[in-house]
Amino acid sequence: MSPRRALLLACACAALLCGRAQAQGTAAPPPAAAEEFRVTLLGTGSPAPVMRRFGPGVLVEAGGRKLLIDCGRGTTQRLLQAGLRLGQVDALFLTHLHSDHVVGIPDLWLTGWLEASYAQRKGPLRVHGPQGTRALMQGLTQAYQWDIQARIADQNLSADSVRAEVSEFKTGVVYDQGGVKVTAFEVDHGDLLKPAVGFRVDYGGRSVTVSGDTRFSENLIRHAAGTDLLVHQVAAVREELLKNPVFQVILAHHTSPEEAGTVFSRVKPRQAVFYHFVLLGAPGVPPVTEQDVLQQARRHYDGPLLIGEDLMAFRLEREGVVPLAGRGS
Ligand SMILES: [Zn+2]
Ligand SMILES: [Zn+2]
Repeated sequence: MSPRRALLLACACAALLCGRAQAQGTAAPPPAAAEEFRVTLLGTGSPAPVMRRFGPGVLVEAGGRKLLIDCGRGTTQRLLQAGLRLGQVDALFLTHLHSDHVVGIPDLWLTGWLEASYAQRKGPLRVHGPQGTRALMQGLTQAYQWDIQARIADQNLSADSVRAEVSEFKTGVVYDQGGVKVTAFEVDHGDLLKPAVGFRVDYGGRSVTVSGDTRFSENLIRHAAGTDLLVHQVAAVREELLKNPVFQVILAHHTSPEEAGTVFSRVKPRQAVFYHFVLLGAPGVPPVTEQDVLQQARRHYDGPLLIGEDLMAFRLEREGVVPLAGRGS
C-alpha cells in the first residue's frame, strides 16, 4: 500500500470512529408515544451563525403527528438528534417569512426526499404559512429544478414526494386532524413586517403556544390564555448600545425581557420558556447573557421560567409540564 493510500485509510478510520463516538455521546431519546404530547425546541437562536443555538424551529409531537413550527438553519440536524427521520415531519407551519425562519426549508424538503435512512419522506412536503408562502415554495422549486430533475431521472425518486403542498392562511384554525388543532393568531412584528403569526397547538386538553417573532402583543396574551407551555422569543442589548440605530430597529420588532415577564405574568402558563434569543453585541460590548435576560424578566414574573436550549424538550401531561433533559447538542 502506498504511504498516501495508507494515510487516507487511517484518516477514514479515524473519521468513522469519531462519528461513532459522537453518535454514542448523543443519547437517542425514545420516540414519543402516540398519545404523548411533546414539544422539542430544535433551534433557539437568531440569524447569528453559531453552533450552540441553531435557527428557530419547534417540534410539536401530538396524537402521533409530528408538526414543525418554522425551519431555521440546522433544523435537519436537530431533527435527527431528536431521533426523527426528516421524512417523518407531517407538516411545516411558518410564523412569517424572515429568512432566519425559513432558510432550512430547502434542506428539510430536498434532503428529506432522499431514500437514505435519515430521510424517506413519502408524499409532498405540507407547508402551512402566511401570504407569500406559495411564492416562496414556487421560487425554491424553480431554483432547485436541476437537482429535482436530475434525481427523478437518475435515482428514480418520486416526483410526487418532491412537491410542496402549500396552504396559505390568514388566522384561525389552520390544521385540525386526529384531535390536534393548530390555531394561527396575529402577532405584532412591526408595521412593515406583516403578516406575522404565532401558533397555539391544542391536543387532549393541553396546549403549547409559540410566539414567533413579535413585540409585546396583547393578541398573543389573549390567544395564549390557559396555555400549558408558552414558548416566547426575546431580544436585548446592553444599555450603552441602545442608541445604535440598527439595534433600535431590531429591538422595535421584538419583545424585551421585561415585556416578556409581563406577558408571562398575565398568561400564567404552567411553564414559560425563552427561545429565539436575539442578544446583540458590538466590538468591545458583549451581548447580554441569558442570565441577564432571566433576571430582567423576573422583575415582572415569578412563575416557572426556563432559558431554552436547543433540544430541550417538554412533555405536556394533565398534571403539568414535565421538562425532559436536553438531548445533548
Ligand atoms: Zn422576524
Ligand atoms: Zn426571527
